[in-house]
Order: sequence, then C-alpha cells, then structure tokens
Amino acid sequence: RSMDYRVVEIVRRFGRDRPGSPVIVGDGRTIVYGELDARSSRVGRALLAAGLGAGARVGYVGKNAPEFFDVLFGAAKIGAVIAPVNWRLTPAEIAAVLADAGAGLTVVDHELAGLDLPGRTVVTGPEFEAWIAAHPADDPGFVGGPDAVVAQLYTSGTTGTPKGVPLTNRNFSVGVRRSELWLMDGGSVNLVPMPLFHVGGTGYALTGLYPGGRLVLVRDIRPAELADTMVEHGVTNAFIVPSVLRAMCDLPERRNYSTVRAIGYGASPITTELLKRVIETFRAPMFQSYGMTETTGTIVQLDPADHEDPRLMRSAGRPYPWVELRIADPATGEGLGTGETGEVWVRTTQNTSGYWNRPAETARLLTPDGWLRTGDAGHLDEDGYLFLTDRLNDMIVSGGENVFPVEIEEALAVHPGVADVAVIGVPDERWGETVLAVVVRRDPALTEETLLQHGREHLAGFKRPRRIAFADALPRNPGGKVLKKELRAPYWSEAGRSIG
Ligand code: ATP
Ligand code: MG
Repeated sequence: RSMDYRVVEIVRRFGRDRPGSPVIVGDGRTIVYGELDARSSRVGRALLAAGLGAGARVGYVGKNAPEFFDVLFGAAKIGAVIAPVNWRLTPAEIAAVLADAGAGLTVVDHELAGLDLPGRTVVTGPEFEAWIAAHPADDPGFVGGPDAVVAQLYTSGTTGTPKGVPLTNRNFSVGVRRSELWLMDGGSVNLVPMPLFHVGGTGYALTGLYPGGRLVLVRDIRPAELADTMVEHGVTNAFIVPSVLRAMCDLPERRNYSTVRAIGYGASPITTELLKRVIETFRAPMFQSYGMTETTGTIVQLDPADHEDPRLMRSAGRPYPWVELRIADPATGEGLGTGETGEVWVRTTQNTSGYWNRPAETARLLTPDGWLRTGDAGHLDEDGYLFLTDRLNDMIVSGGENVFPVEIEEALAVHPGVADVAVIGVPDERWGETVLAVVVRRDPALTEETLLQHGREHLAGFKRPRRIAFADALPRNPGGKVLKKELRAPYWSEAGRSIG
C-alpha cells in the first residue's frame, strides 16, 4: 500500500486533517498545511489558465523557498510536473535545461529575477502572489496513478551534462518507509540545506512531509548561520553534505545541538577522520545515505548503530529491504563474488524508468531485466554491507593497476596539515596515468615533499601520489562533490581522456 502513496495526497490529507500545523519555514515566513493546500490549488488553476495541463513541465529556478512547494503540489494537482533547475548554472546553461525539459512556464526566484530566461516567467514575491491570487483555491482534483510523473529532477552534471530524470509517485513513495528509517515523524522539524533542485533536497523534504512533519528551508549555506538556525528552530532532523559538515565542525564556537534526533549525510564520499569529528560535534545518531537522482535518492543506508564499528564507518551501509543490489563486471555484466570490486547495479521500485529524451543514455543506464547501472564501483562484504570504492569514471589505471582515488584521499586527509584533498589521474608516458593529489593546506608550511613521504608510508607503490598540486579551494558542486573533470581539464587538454 505505502508504495502507491501519491505525493499530492500529502497536502490534501494534512490540509484537511491538520490545517493549522506548520509545514514550511523559510524566507522569514511560516506556512501551515491548510495554506499550502490552498496556495497549491491556486497555482494549479493558474497553470491551467496559462495553457498547461497533464504532462506539462513547469520550470523552477530558485533557492530553497516556500514557493517551490506551492509549485510542486500545484503542478501535481493538474498532473503537471515541476522541473527544478540548478540556479548556480550560467544563464545559458539554465536556458538549455529549461529547453530540454520543454518548460511551458518558469517560476523564478526574486533574487534571480534579472536572469534572461526563455518563455513565460513568474517571479516570486509580489508578482507570484498576484498571479495565484487571481485564481480560486478549490482543488483542480487531478488524481494520478502510481506511474504519474511528479518531478523531473536533473542529475548534478558531475560527469557530463545534467540529465533529466522523471520520477513518479511510486518512485517517491519509498519516502513513506524511509521516514521511519530516518527517525522522522509528524513532530519532526527537518532542516533542508540541500538544494531543492537536487534529489537530496526534494527527496529529503518529501520524506519529511509524508508523516506530516515540518521543513526549515535554508536559502544560502553559511556554516555559522546554519548552526544557529538549527538551535533557533529546534531542528530534530537534518541532511547535510560532508563538505558543509566539515565547515560546521570547524566553527570556533560549539552549539548545543540537544534537539537533534538524527543527522543524515551523503551524496559524496566522507573520510573516516571527518566522520569521527562529526559524531563528536553533534552527539546524535548519524546515518549515511548512498543513492543517485536516477534511484530517487537513497537506496543504501548506514544505520546509526553501524557507526560504532570502525570497520563499518568506511561502508555506505546495506540496501533497503526492497532494494536488490549486485556487483557486476562493468564490461560483461557478470555477477562478482563477495569482496570483489565491480560496478554497483540496483533493482528497485525507486529506479526511474529512463532519462527524459535521452534514449541512448537510457539504454546504457537500464538493462532489459530491470537493473540500473550506477556507474559507481564498490564491493559487498559477507554481511551485505556496501563499500564504495569510487566512480568508475574517476578510476585511475596506472601501470595496469586500477587505482581508486577515494582510498588515496582518505590516506592524505589524515595528515594534520591537509584541509581538503582530491586525487585525479594525469597522463604519464610510462604508466599511462599517474596519481596527482590536489591539496588545500590547513598548515601553510606544508610541503610537497612532506606529503609525498606521507604517501610512501601509507600507500602501496602504485597508489602513491607522484605529484602534489596546492590549491586555495576545490571546485565543488552544491552536493559537495568535487568537480574532477575541472581538475583534470588542464592536464588532459591534449591527451583527451574520455570522461563520458
Ligand atoms: P551526473 O550523473 O550528471 O554526472 P551525479 O552523478 O553527481 O552527476 P547525482 O545523481 O546527484 O549526480 O549523484 C549521484 C552520485 O553521487 C552517485 O552515483 C555517487 O557517485 C555519489 N554518491 C552519492 N552518495 C554517496 C555516498 N554516500 N558516498 C559516496 N558517493 C556518493
Ligand atoms: Mg550520475
């Protein structure tokens, strides 16, 4: 049953049953369920009046704000689909994503109103309010089936161009069960610092809404403000990416996080060293989440109790009970045994049925018998715990040996002089590729020789970094992922490594 929960029923049900309960805190406002229900009905009617209907895409370009949910639920009330876009992209890239989605209308954040975007736009604030006020608040009444698309989210574009991923009621309804696994209930105050254009934001937010909880939206991530917001709003649950957790652990002043019941992290690799500091800082149950846009977010979770075992702290956790996982040889698709490293394949109701308008990429993503190829490398242990090694795309082949950058990053991150580190392969005449570490120093006196020596002491010969490049910061996307294609670019401009 729970797997057929239609997303739009969240707002219809709680709009009726607990209209006065807060649902969204953001932009200095608090919206209650009854209001969200009425506002989203107005949006649905406004969209119908603008000529949009079932299946139409509604663009959304904005920071985390209450209007996102007006549009998500408003679109769902007429069978239309919100297509949120990463507002940090360049105007040309944003326009390209909106064109890809075929957005019939786009809602734009008031802070981004200056962007020159194609098609009809409605700017949040007075313009948006006037637009919806012109339409009645009676529910347009669309009831979609389990396969009705609710949101078209785009992948982060870490390895290439962002790809559109239509996600359905059935895909999202996993949130009904996930909310329990994330220790959420109707009284939860859920912090949403992850951008809502990313599955980590939308997926987390909807999971928090299934039991009738409240969301505290964060527009801009500033670590000290984030910490204060958690205290001020009595946040009970949060999902925060490793790069932001690191900054919060580095804050000079320790906050009292006693209201926190569970903190999730994920979307990019975390080092054991950072994980220990995070546990020390928040003193709350932690869970790690591994997943991707194409799987409606988390499919594998490391539970709070697992964090007591130092060996498991390196694991991403175990697949949810309704998720099948296998490790396959990426070339042949053949299954590999316990402890053997290969590509992670997954089969679950959370899988998208394919990319939007990309048949060739969809064919590469999905096998005929329903497996989804994640593009991530890893292995399973005897108890079914998944240990991620890295993205297959980021794997370095040096002298015929496969080298996974994450392992080297782990080894270098424990050096006290290192604040941040990313490892890439660079072309090498003799070995094909060699290991280069890009390091952000904590200690300005740290030298290349010290780090090369540290590598010699902790890593096998073929894994050792041969060169160190120092940088002021690593290029990261909003998910906290290091943009390795950017780091590789200057080294590979002539050799042309395929990173597709
Ligand atoms: P694109 O597919 O456009 O290149 P992307 O893969 O970064 O971008 P997302 O769907 O946002 O887009 O991210 C999914 C990926 O994030 C996973 O395939 C995996 O590589 C990484 N990831 C997610 N969770 C974790 C985790 N807990 N540990 C390590 N990596 C993770
Ligand atoms: Mg991906």
